[in-house]
Amino acid sequence: MLKIENLSTSYKTIDGDIHVLKDINFEIKDNEIFGIAGESGCGKTTLLNTLYDIVDYPLVIDQGRVVLEGEKDGKKYSFESGKIRDTWWNNIAYVPQAAQSVLNPIVRLKTQFLDSIPKDQKKNEKPEETLARVADYLKELNLSPDVLESFPFQLSGGMRQRAIIALATFMSPGVVLADEPTTALDVVVQKGILMMLMRLQKQLKNTMIIVSHDMGVHYQITDRMAIMYSGSIAELGKTEDIFNDPIHPYTKMLVDALPRVGEDVQRVGIAGRPPALKNPPPGCRFAPRCPHATDRCRSEVPKFREIRPGRFAACHLLEEEVKTNG
Ligand code: SF4
Repeated sequence: MLKIENLSTSYKTIDGDIHVLKDINFEIKDNEIFGIAGESGCGKTTLLNTLYDIVDYPLVIDQGRVVLEGEKDGKKYSFESGKIRDTWWNNIAYVPQAAQSVLNPIVRLKTQFLDSIPKDQKKNEKPEETLARVADYLKELNLSPDVLESFPFQLSGGMRQRAIIALATFMSPGVVLADEPTTALDVVVQKGILMMLMRLQKQLKNTMIIVSHDMGVHYQITDRMAIMYSGSIAELGKTEDIFNDPIHPYTKMLVDALPRVGEDVQRVGIAGRPPALKNPPPGCRFAPRCPHATDRCRSEVPKFREIRPGRFAACHLLEEEVKTNG
């Protein structure tokens, strides 16, 4: 499980601090595919980096922490921000946005696999023995072990992405983070990658966290999801509820703007742009684009709270529902 507790981060710049994440609180459970969605610049990638403990200056955690807890081989473990990187690959792994940027194009894949697997995971094996285990694992994923002899530049974008996913999951980590895993791939290859991620999650019974701006990706594979807006979570809940019955005004407009199969109507996007994180408006950051905004919205930040069981949102409008539900 990953717990995100009161998390706020900022980038330190010569022009002042840019507050990217603000008071984020939620939990990602075991054995689920969790999606993080939102427009560009809303803080998705910063959140993912913070979950994976890539917090290097000028990015700084101002308050709060991330806690990674679980059990592997009968032993319980717990790591928090600053220590999560000690368990990279073993208990938490990362599939970056552009696979080609992490694979060295002129080094054979087998060498890159061997270099990436930590020593203690090689169990005093000879390299051929570790590679035999890697080959077996690739077969389990319906990938030909022949790719191990290839250089990345010889592989298609989809194949490189599959290889990276195989590398990230080889040690059965309890949590796998994937940043825009289908970006820059054509639709057919995208579908194959999503199916591979779903199959893997079922096989490993772990937690998979998918960051994507593409709502279609979330609809197809996530169990629960969070909608981010300007550095905070606007709404969080089961994916089917978010799509069928969104409760936050931003989510409603986002879902309304999605094209429907067989529909001949041109849907319009949300007017305006998210605020600059350097100088956000006071109160609710969505107020300048929200058709329901009141004076209160423009001065008071709405609290992120449970509106219905398992359903969270940050909006003053929903307070009545909270009172009614007790
Ligand atoms: Fe709109 Fe106000 Fe709710 Fe913000 S708090 S989403 S401005 S109604």
